[in-house]
Amino acid sequence: MDDPMPALFVGHGNPLNALGGNRYAEAWAALGRSLPRPRAILSISAHYYIPFCMITANAAPPTIHDFDGFPAELYEIRYPAPGSPDLAGRVRDLLAPETVRFDEGWGLDHGTWSVLVHLFPDADIPVVQLSMDEKRPPAHHFDLGRRLTPLREEGVLIVGSGNLVHNLARYRRRDRKGPPFDWAERFERRVRDLLAAGDPAPLVDYERFCEYARLAVPSPDHYLPFLNVLRLRRDGEQVRFPVEGVDAGSVSMPAVRFG
Ligand code: ZN
Repeated sequence: MDDPMPALFVGHGNPLNALGGNRYAEAWAALGRSLPRPRAILSISAHYYIPFCMITANAAPPTIHDFDGFPAELYEIRYPAPGSPDLAGRVRDLLAPETVRFDEGWGLDHGTWSVLVHLFPDADIPVVQLSMDEKRPPAHHFDLGRRLTPLREEGVLIVGSGNLVHNLARYRRRDRKGPPFDWAERFERRVRDLLAAGDPAPLVDYERFCEYARLAVPSPDHYLPFLNVLRLRRDGEQVRFPVEGVDAGSVSMPAVRFG
């Protein structure tokens, strides 16, 4: 039997990363070349954080430019990957009895396409996005990951897209390459230590695992996709960090790869 598909969490950071020409884009491209070719991609994006559990079910999901005030060339990017109504149905079945609604009004937001343009630049692999229900606690999102585990055996690459540390109020726009804030560095180190120890429980209960969590994760949307992916890790499975760095002191960019 083939090895299961790896499971990925990516730190997407600034939408400008989609334009390339920096270390993150280069690392995503290298990561893409190192992955087996998936049959389809299930993306769980920080920017699809809504009061329902929904999944994109359109055959041709549009590229959504869900941001303001960026250069015109960013709005011209299209990621024309097909959708997969079949995969949307499979995910709905796996998540039962959770109610999952089909969504034909959303598409691929920048949490998905700003990374996929580098990971899989040909845009020829079907992509489906699963929302995160903002009414549910972190433990619920972690548990949903468990129910998605069969997809790894079915050739589906599950990609959680957010950032482990994401504090835009402290983002140093004029010093993007400067050192991280102390609390950002410590939070990220704590995550790595717990991943190395194979101890997910404190990561789920992240609001209490350290005193600086409220600075590192002031709102849950960018952290929760990590919990979905964390639950996909098999016992004893290796963890790698194929992308590294901190952007503007307060947005940590590591990707986390299982398998
Ligand atoms: Zn984001």
